[in-house]
Amino acid sequence: MNMKKIVLLGSTGSIGTQTLDVCRQHNIGVRALSANRNTSLLEQQAREFHPEYVCVYSGDAYPDIKQRLADTDIKVLCGMEGLCELSRLNCHAVVNSVVGMVGLQPTLEAAKAGNDIALANKETLVAGGRLVTDCVKEHGVKLLPIDSEHSAIFQCLMGAGDNLPSKILLTASGGPFYGKTRDELRDVTVEQALKHPNWSMGAKITIDSATLMNKGLELIEAVRLFDVKPEQVEIVVHRQSIIHSAVEFEDGAVIAQLGTADMRIPIQLALTYPQRLPSPAKKLSLFDVGQLTFGRADEETFSCLAAAKRAISMEGNAPCAVNSANEAAVALFLNRKIGFLDIGEAVGGVLDSVKHIAEPPLNDILDTQKAAEEYVAAKYGRI
Ligand code: MG
Repeated sequence: MNMKKIVLLGSTGSIGTQTLDVCRQHNIGVRALSANRNTSLLEQQAREFHPEYVCVYSGDAYPDIKQRLADTDIKVLCGMEGLCELSRLNCHAVVNSVVGMVGLQPTLEAAKAGNDIALANKETLVAGGRLVTDCVKEHGVKLLPIDSEHSAIFQCLMGAGDNLPSKILLTASGGPFYGKTRDELRDVTVEQALKHPNWSMGAKITIDSATLMNKGLELIEAVRLFDVKPEQVEIVVHRQSIIHSAVEFEDGAVIAQLGTADMRIPIQLALTYPQRLPSPAKKLSLFDVGQLTFGRADEETFSCLAAAKRAISMEGNAPCAVNSANEAAVALFLNRKIGFLDIGEAVGGVLDSVKHIAEPPLNDILDTQKAAEEYVAAKYGRI
């Protein structure tokens, strides 16, 4: 019997439900589950996986989930305190798949408790920066990427020994608006932006893919995870999403990881690493794919990407500022309060507005988040 047990933060989202698929497949136990506010799905998951704890981030959802699970002996927690308590539980790994900067403190708590972290929450690494990577090093825990590109890079480096990559080729699908001009993007609707060509994901990351902010965040995430300079990461638009990323070594050899676009592959590897086990994901047929194409990203049209690059070159709290401005702007866009191009304006503008701090501790990171949200609210209003 498999004695592995995980703590899963963000269990009702796209990565969360696919993580539970992997748990079903390989008999991985679940000590705790958390959701933001989707209490009906959380209840269903709790009844199937019998965790010791569940937690809802949103305080409003607490009475409902408490009542739904009243006939069980599952302990029900809520808020950031609850998420942090789950992260400290003794477990095989904390899977962090919450959306946004909410994931930062739970990640730090997991590392401090000596838990390995399977990370799908890229905002944590982007905003927390050295705070997270230093904490992980200090406590000797593993940070296993679930993001498909970073899992790919991680896999390309698995056989590399002491050889460091000279370059990372970070692939991008280009999103639904690849090849469009700024003029063509001015009036795009929420529905158009939510149609991703290759991946089925949550709303926030799908919008981030349409603006290419996702690729900007992933560039920063790659710098943090693989300890490379921003200029060593090259973004390659690859519309088919078959090559999930590649690394180049000093001798010019390039190693890539390929596969179908199914997140259960990187999720499973993060949970079973270094072992590879069978997966229900569809196998790749290069004959069916036929052709792979590559192009450059248009940073003028997709100004979020340019802003993210500028932020990582500034370092300190700048990546946190662009990430938080983006979170606020995407929420406004999803609520139809601002246009698609305004997201890029907000993300670029925040860098000139928020005070730069070179080595921010946690409270400065959280203050930067607030300042960036205030900047967006002052410019565009609130939801
Ligand atoms: Mg990705």
